[in-house]
Amino acid sequence: MTELNAVHASDVVIIGGGLTGLRAALQVFRAGLSCAVISKVHPLRSHSVAAQGGMNASLANVAGPDGEMDSWERHAYDTVKGSDFLADQDAVASMCREAPAAVYELEHLGTVWSRLEDGRIAQRPFGGAGFPRTCYATDRTGHNILHTLYEQVTDAKIPVYEEFFVTSLVVREGRCTGCTALEFLTGTVHGFSAKAVLMATGGFGRIFSRSTNALINTGDGAALALRAGARLKDMEFVQFHPTTLRGTSILISEAARGEGGILLNRDGERFMARYAPQSGDLAPRDVVARAIEQEIAAGRGFDNDCVHLDIRHLGKEKIQERLPGIRQIAIDFAGVDPVTEPIPIQPGQHYSMGGIDVKIDGASSIPGLYAAGECACVSVHGANRLGGNSLLETVVFGRLVADALISDVSHLPVPDPAPVTAAMRETEAKLDDILDRGGGRSLFSLLESFREMMFAHFGIFREAAQMEEGLQRILSFGQQLGSVSLSDINREVNPALIRYLELEAMVPVAEALARGAIGRRESRGSHTRTDYPSRDDRNFLHHTITTLENGSIAVSTAPVRMGMFPPVERVY
Ligand SMILES: Cc1cc2nc3c(=O)[nH]c(=O)nc-3n(C[C@H](O)[C@H](O)[C@H](O)COP(=O)(O)OP(=O)(O)OC[C@H]3O[C@@H](n4cnc5c(N)ncnc54)[C@H](O)[C@@H]3O)c2cc1C
Repeated sequence: MTELNAVHASDVVIIGGGLTGLRAALQVFRAGLSCAVISKVHPLRSHSVAAQGGMNASLANVAGPDGEMDSWERHAYDTVKGSDFLADQDAVASMCREAPAAVYELEHLGTVWSRLEDGRIAQRPFGGAGFPRTCYATDRTGHNILHTLYEQVTDAKIPVYEEFFVTSLVVREGRCTGCTALEFLTGTVHGFSAKAVLMATGGFGRIFSRSTNALINTGDGAALALRAGARLKDMEFVQFHPTTLRGTSILISEAARGEGGILLNRDGERFMARYAPQSGDLAPRDVVARAIEQEIAAGRGFDNDCVHLDIRHLGKEKIQERLPGIRQIAIDFAGVDPVTEPIPIQPGQHYSMGGIDVKIDGASSIPGLYAAGECACVSVHGANRLGGNSLLETVVFGRLVADALISDVSHLPVPDPAPVTAAMRETEAKLDDILDRGGGRSLFSLLESFREMMFAHFGIFREAAQMEEGLQRILSFGQQLGSVSLSDINREVNPALIRYLELEAMVPVAEALARGAIGRRESRGSHTRTDYPSRDDRNFLHHTITTLENGSIAVSTAPVRMGMFPPVERVY
């Protein structure tokens, strides 16, 4: 029998080294509790580092179009309207109220926000927002904030287990008391025992083929929680960003339109005026992504697969000052300099609105298991997220959830590590089984066809028969997993083994998404059904809950927590 590593013990285990995980870790440290951060990549390679355009807060440093000033209530209204009235309004209010303090806190910790002439923090307009409310660090905002928090975590000497892939959550007598993880470098299994576990594992965008997300965003957290018995929420709501660089899926930030960029079809027409007469190019993402697809389908795109984003009129100086990263991406990956040529763009998967079902304090349906950030559904984004609200969610809920968790666990005794040891043995056996399989299906061809299938069957426009077929294919992919064999059968430094474990996670996540999407017979936010084109508040103004029962996904519903803003027709 393999000799097991000793179990690592701390008050709190945080799975995820992105913005959410690091912000939470800092809070746990400040409260005097011990914590361990686990990340499957170096924390600075977490997906948060790629965030470009900015983070919303009603600082009111820049006036709105009619000279009025922003407020947290206006931020909350835009967010709820953007969500197509599916967001829980108490959670939205918390986030928007906390937003200015979160921006100033990051500033004090070291984030270098871009500035107005008078020295105050600059703010730019973003889609679906009534005011210029997005604070930014040129177009490298996530990079700036993640480095700030990583410096703080390093300074605090919080243990970070990087390149550790979490393989299971440990639930004992109904309470989550730890997890197991595979160390990439050595191939050995580790156990982590804690009074509570916080999931901060990011989104599941990479279950789709055309995605702006980092390759690591495979939904492991949602799958781990599901398998442990937790509920997922609103998994059918997937954001497709309107502007990704044609053929590459690299994001061209909404900041480009925030700074004045315009969308043009092949006839040179600013077509958004027809789809969103008031907001035009700065309508929310679901509206703009659908409009672009419709233009392309009507033969008004370029090469039948893209439209143009034109920022030439901003001039070289402004482009270089506000959008240097975007310019470089277009030059490097499309051979197009946006100073002199329009950028070819097309929609691509971008964000996971759904995730682990949590209350406003981050508590999941399993005691001791918490979640925050993109892996969670609290829900502040409802059926469609507004740009700039996700970075905000990571730092606000990273802190709020850590506060709740700290007060919940402070009085608890140290848990018995024995169940973690037992889970380590199970993980050892499972890994051996995967590596021992002889000549079967190729992992990578299965992975590629899975992602392409998801984009084809659960993309921007959906319809019953196409989704039913997609669901059958997801179930079939699940069955084929058992016959996959890996070309590298070593435990140490085996990326294929990690990719296998990720694909294994993607299947139940995709099934939850599919069953939620099939059951929601209406169009709301990002979920657009050609067979049910209208929003149906009477029958579907509720959250979708998915759980794993006897090996398959069961669907139920939960009420939306309404508040200040009653549902109205969503026009832009
Ligand atoms: C290209 C791009 C640009 C964006 N720009 C903006 C923007 O300008 N403004 C905005 O508000 N939002 C933006 N977003 C969204 C935003 O960046 C993300 O939603 C946010 O950063 C997610 O942070 P997180 O902490 O929840 O997760 P992540 O930063 O994704 O971190 C997840 C962590 O979990 C770890 N992890 C996952 N699975 C495992 C496992 N099995 N074992 C161990 N560790 C694991 C990873 O290693 C990682 O450390 C953008 C998104 C994209 C794709």
